Amino acid sequence: MAANKSVIVIGAGTMGRGIAQVFAQSGYEVYLNDAVPKALDEGVAFIHKMLDRAAEKGALKADQAQEAKKRLRAIRTIGEAPACPLIIEAATEKPDIKVEILRSAQSKLTDDGILATNTSSISITQLAAATKAPDRFIGMHFFNPVPLMKLVEVVRALQTSEETVRKTISYAESVGKTPVQCNDHPGFVSNRILMPMINEAVFCLQDGVAEPAAIDEIMKLGMNHPLGPLALGDLIGLDVCLFILEVLHRDLGEDRYRPCPLLRKMVAAGRLGRKTKQGFFRYD
Ligand code: NAD
Repeated sequence: MAANKSVIVIGAGTMGRGIAQVFAQSGYEVYLNDAVPKALDEGVAFIHKMLDRAAEKGALKADQAQEAKKRLRAIRTIGEAPACPLIIEAATEKPDIKVEILRSAQSKLTDDGILATNTSSISITQLAAATKAPDRFIGMHFFNPVPLMKLVEVVRALQTSEETVRKTISYAESVGKTPVQCNDHPGFVSNRILMPMINEAVFCLQDGVAEPAAIDEIMKLGMNHPLGPLALGDLIGLDVCLFILEVLHRDLGEDRYRPCPLLRKMVAAGRLGRKTKQGFFRYD
C-alpha cells in the first residue's frame, strides 16, 4: 500500500459520494470533484450526513466521523488536487465524458499511480487505450450503496499489468471491501447476469404476468433475494439499466439482451427510479 494515502474521486453523484465516504473513513485524504457545483455541494453534504448518522448509530466514533469530514475536500477543478497515487473516475456513464476526464486527470497521478474507472458497462480496454499509461488503468467497480456493499469487481483491461491488479486489490481491501477479479468483457460478470434478470422482470410486468409488488415479492421470498428486481432497477436507475442493456445487446450481439420496450418507455417518461422519486415504485 502506498505511503501516500490520498485519492481523487471524480463525480459526486450516487457512486462518487459513496466511494469518497469509504476512503475518507479509511484514513485517506479525499479530493472530490464534480463538473456541476450543485452536485459537488450536495455530495459533500450527503457524506457529512452519512458520517453523522454512522456516529449516531455507533458504527463510527464521533471523533472518527469528524476526522473523516476533515479529510474530505471538495474541489471545483481537478487542477486543485495534488498528485495522488489513485484516481477513481465515477462520472456520468458516457464514453466521451469519461475519455475527456481520464485524459485530463492522468496529469494528477503520481509516477506509478493508478487510474481507475467505476464504469458499469463501458469497455475498460477501450478506456485504457485513451490513456498515457494503459498498464496502470483498471476497472474498480463498486456497488450501490457503496458504504454497505462489500464487493468491488476488479476488472482488468487487456493492457492492465499484474502490478496494477495487485495494488488495486490492496486498495479495495484497505477500505474494507472484498475485491473479486474478472476480465474486461461487456457487463463484466455482475451486470451480464443481473441486467437480463431485471429486464425479464420488466417483461413480466409488460406482459401482465403480475403487479410490480408481486413480481418483487416472488423473487424475494422464492429466491432469497434481499431486494426484488424492479426495486433494484429503481435503485440503480432505470436509465442506467437501459444503457447497460443496450451495451450488452450491441456488444454481445444476442437478442436475449434486447431492452424491454416498457423499460424504454419508463426512461422516456423520466421515471428513472429513486432518483426521480418514481420508477416501478413511488418514493415520496
Ligand atoms: P450520477 O448521475 O448519480 O452521478 C454522476 C456525476 O458525474 C454527476 O454528479 C455529474 O455532474 C458528474 N459529472 C458529469 N460529467 C462530469 C465531468 N466531466 N467531471 C466531473 N463530474 C462529472 O451517476 P452514478 O450512478 O453515480 O454513476 C457514476 C458511474 O458509476 C457510472 O459510470 C455508472 O455506470 C457507475 N455505476 C453506477 C452504479 C449505480 O448503481 N448507480 C453502480 C455501479 C457503477
